[in-house]
Amino acid sequence: MYNIGMTKTVLILIAAATLAGCARTTPEQQVIDDAAEALGGAEQIQSATTLQLEGGGTNGDLGQNRAPDTDLPLFNVSELRHTIDMANRRARRSMNRVDADDPTESDSQNWGWDNGVAYNIDAKGMARRQNDMVARERQAELFLHHPLPLVRTALADTSTVSNRREEGGTILVDITTAQGEMVTLGIDGTSHLPVLARSMFYHPNLGDSLRETTFAEYQEVSGLQLPARITTKVDRYPVADLTLTRQGVNAAAEDISAPADVRSAEVPAPVANVTVQEVAPGVWWLAGQSHHSVLVEFSDHLELVEVPQSETRALAVIARARELRPGKPLTKAVVTHHHFDHSGGIRAAIAEGLTLVTHERNRALFEELAKRPHTIVQDALARNPREARIETVADDMTVKDAMRSMRVFHVIDGTGHSDSMLAVYLPNERILVQGDLFNSQGPNPKRMAIINTRFEQLGLQIQRHVPIHGAITPHTEYLKIMRSAQAAS
Ligand SMILES: [Zn+2]
Ligand SMILES: [Zn+2]
Repeated sequence: MYNIGMTKTVLILIAAATLAGCARTTPEQQVIDDAAEALGGAEQIQSATTLQLEGGGTNGDLGQNRAPDTDLPLFNVSELRHTIDMANRRARRSMNRVDADDPTESDSQNWGWDNGVAYNIDAKGMARRQNDMVARERQAELFLHHPLPLVRTALADTSTVSNRREEGGTILVDITTAQGEMVTLGIDGTSHLPVLARSMFYHPNLGDSLRETTFAEYQEVSGLQLPARITTKVDRYPVADLTLTRQGVNAAAEDISAPADVRSAEVPAPVANVTVQEVAPGVWWLAGQSHHSVLVEFSDHLELVEVPQSETRALAVIARARELRPGKPLTKAVVTHHHFDHSGGIRAAIAEGLTLVTHERNRALFEELAKRPHTIVQDALARNPREARIETVADDMTVKDAMRSMRVFHVIDGTGHSDSMLAVYLPNERILVQGDLFNSQGPNPKRMAIINTRFEQLGLQIQRHVPIHGAITPHTEYLKIMRSAQAAS
């Protein structure tokens, strides 16, 4: 009896709520309705199942600026092709990129996202699955941060819209998708056209980061209004400015579903492979992947050069270093430069109690990176908060005790790579440790000549390069490569 009564009450309440829902549109829903109307109407939006975008522009290289306080280096983007399949929740984007300052540096990107599965396709057409963090980022970057799929998603019954507010002339609402992803949509207060999309994502170096995409230069395409200019900022960094020269609705012919082997592949987990080679008594090269480190033993402590790439790599290198001399504390990590692939382990190093040693121009950035919130993913430092200890080098510094002498110097670059770069020289062992100035696997002769001048100025008697990238190389070989390139030009 009691149960039946309850059921009746609940049904009546649901019926009342449904009626109220039909009768009254919330202010949030009104924003979506207005945006849909401005784009060409809900019906027109629903019948658009695919979108094909082509164009070009520029792409900023995040974390690779010459100094922490300078603009990002730019790539010129051409042959941009971005396909969005709204009906099946898929997207793929390919482009060619050429370094705006150095036309010999170029690459191409071919990235896909298929309903939660992210993959990259290499130049040979091989597709490789990416991790879930990348998949989450791609959902925003390739799919939701465009007015058409975003408003289409907001119109779905399974999405919720909340928190209407205004910012200058822009009206904002938060859209939460059926998958639990939240994206803020901003529409122009007058035209009601979408002007921005914002969402938070996790960046290993920057932690919790805001991605903001802005939409401008609307034009009519098959009865819909679509933006021809799309710009993106990550945190304070402009990372893309793209102009679309061709747009097509329901014109995509290409199959952009994830290949079956990508779908069935396991989500890749980060792995660190650390090899150990003693290059001189008490000096070890910790290699194994793309970015190496060097461990240097002193009378009563150990110091590392480079904690690169990622937390996984840095923690593995630190653990291996401690195993080599368990009796001596590992106290410091020299960080050659601020580029994100080289400073990817600094938060892990701080969490492990290491003092960072870097060029003075990197201090403010490293202090900021140490303090930034990492709540979307709790990294080692978020789990074990510690105050960052940072020592800086302006020009040239020597650490010396009874066992060892180690010189840490500013490279005074001039190569265009980094203005706040340090290298390390061990005078007794005649070993040079550097990152990104010389790589035996792809030597840059111009860069080699510039830094060789600096070596001569400092009076270094280098015998061997024990590098952060590439193989251990005798300095005679270095000079040979440099001189043959000079002779050829
Ligand atoms: Zn670099
Ligand atoms: Zn590098």
